[in-house]
Amino acid sequence: EPVKKFKELTVGKKEKLSEMKYYSSLCEVLESVESTTKRLEITDIMSNFFKKMIDEGPETLTKCVYLCVNQVAPEYEGIELGVGESIVMKGIASSTGKQLSKVKSEAEKLGDLGTVAMNFRTNQKTLFPMPRLTIDKVFNTFYEISTSSGALSQQKKIDKISSLIVSGSSKEAKYIVRSLEGKLRIGLAEKTVLVALAQAAVFHKAESKGKKASSEELSKASEIIKTVYTQLPSYKILVESLLTHGIKNLQEFCKLVPGIPVKPMLAHPTKSITEVLDRFEGMEFTCEYKYDGERIQIHRLENGQVISFSRNSENTTEKYMDIMSKCDQFLKSGTKTFILDAEAVAWDKEKECILPFQVLSTRKRKDVKESEISVQVCVFVFDILYLNGESLLKKTFNERREIMKSAFISSPGQFEYAISKDLKSVDEIQAFLDESISGNCEGLMIKVLSGEESTYEPSKRSRNWLKVKKDYLDGIGDSLDLVVIGAYIGKGKRTGVYGGFLLACYDPEKEEYQSICKIGTGFSEASLEEFKNTLSAHVIPIPKPYYSYGDATKPDVWFEPVQVWEVKAADLSISPVYKAAIGYVNEEKGISLRFPRFIRLRTDKGPEQATSSEQVAEMFESQNFNSAS
Ligand code: ATP
Repeated sequence: EPVKKFKELTVGKKEKLSEMKYYSSLCEVLESVESTTKRLEITDIMSNFFKKMIDEGPETLTKCVYLCVNQVAPEYEGIELGVGESIVMKGIASSTGKQLSKVKSEAEKLGDLGTVAMNFRTNQKTLFPMPRLTIDKVFNTFYEISTSSGALSQQKKIDKISSLIVSGSSKEAKYIVRSLEGKLRIGLAEKTVLVALAQAAVFHKAESKGKKASSEELSKASEIIKTVYTQLPSYKILVESLLTHGIKNLQEFCKLVPGIPVKPMLAHPTKSITEVLDRFEGMEFTCEYKYDGERIQIHRLENGQVISFSRNSENTTEKYMDIMSKCDQFLKSGTKTFILDAEAVAWDKEKECILPFQVLSTRKRKDVKESEISVQVCVFVFDILYLNGESLLKKTFNERREIMKSAFISSPGQFEYAISKDLKSVDEIQAFLDESISGNCEGLMIKVLSGEESTYEPSKRSRNWLKVKKDYLDGIGDSLDLVVIGAYIGKGKRTGVYGGFLLACYDPEKEEYQSICKIGTGFSEASLEEFKNTLSAHVIPIPKPYYSYGDATKPDVWFEPVQVWEVKAADLSISPVYKAAIGYVNEEKGISLRFPRFIRLRTDKGPEQATSSEQVAEMFESQNFNSAS
């Protein structure tokens, strides 16, 4: 009887939906993307798919885009799609009628829960046809799973996962599980998705007019969409505007807005003051202290709310609630909405001086009570991107600096402007660099002040901002931020913890982590204990298909790419066993670090923001150039 009732409810009430509304259409696309590694082919497949999706309207297209990048909300909202492995296993067990132990043993054997779910579904007989999964349904369920919390949430999550798998085909089950685990690695980087979206819009428009899209139009559209996204990283707003106003008018309608983090501008490392002067010859530039804290982007919204974001676009308002809550004290009258770029630094109130980064890192990030905050923070503001309804990105740095100084009131030890001097000679800059180091800073940031090259370039590692770190003047120019992908079992004094680790840089073009060195120096006993605890939870039985490494350096255990470590090294050398930057300097050999030393855990960088292969190659080349000259 219940089965009959269910049949009437689902099968009988068939809605006529376009084929594109079903999740199977997305899975087919994901499958074809997975079957190729060629970027152009992937972009073509995606743009073709998005073009058809345009006809389904902005909501479905937005959900598709999110499912492709494996998110359910913009990054800055901090809602992550990533359910613990044990919950996903329980979901698979309950939906496929298998014992949990069977799911576990298959997962160990195959190394991929998605394949386990797919195999179980293939062999499963269903009593009656289930309603087909729509993109809408999958997205909404993922969203609910990602946002549900509380005592009952575990069982609720399992039930929701189970209901999706039950309704899905074997192929759908595979992608559902991979997405839920946060492991949908099909080569769909943000850049590919954005370019595909732009091309889809151009193709769609051209087709509706019975014309062909020109390659010029296509590349222009891609540039527009990428620029817009760095200022307004919200697929929802982007897709809605794209469909309403068209690609050509996108920049006009999608401008930065307080409340949505802008991807910060980044700097290039240099190894000497003369290198800086060579680069900036004939240009007006300024030198600023390079503070050693955490980047903070401060936004004041229309409603007066003040919020902050990290370098990584994570909302850090809670961490800095003491400063955010009194931010209005630092405003001149007439200052309403704004976006500031700054560095938050630990501050010694009594001695009135900057404290090292390690002190700042002891601040809690969550469940912060203002009364319990013991580490005082001073914010050093160095740029302004938006003021009272107007974007300032296109203004020169000189203009932005003046606007910034006219809108705020500096307050010592709480809210100050970055110390800066417009210097010209090597000696003056050297003296300023020494001064910055005695003031507990890392060195200097040297920036173009006027002309077209002094605009604010969101998300770009620009040659118009150069960093000079004292430590590196005779070394390799900068530290590296690397991903821990494996470890070696500790012996002797390190029995019980990991003895050493395998590190990797990231290649965003190939979307892979490439081994760069083994590291065993620079760790305190406490940090080794901590890494044993934190990393053990991320051990995987086999390396990821997107790990590139040589057999000679194979670690005893592999990890998911979760932690980023800052590492210093004596120099870089060409290596037959490591894979970093392979193809950049040498076709077959990679680059490795000599004498790497652990400096600190970078909690403000995700694995894909680790030092890139291109940066590694640049460091190698600049080191060789300097030693040759
Ligand atoms: P990158 O951001 O270049 O990948 P990173 O995060 O390791 O590397 P650094 O190499 O140390 O950062 O240099 C850039 C960072 O320096 C900025 O992201 C910012 O947090 C910090 N900083 C401190 N003072 C300044 C300043 N005056 N102007 C710009 N950035 C500054």
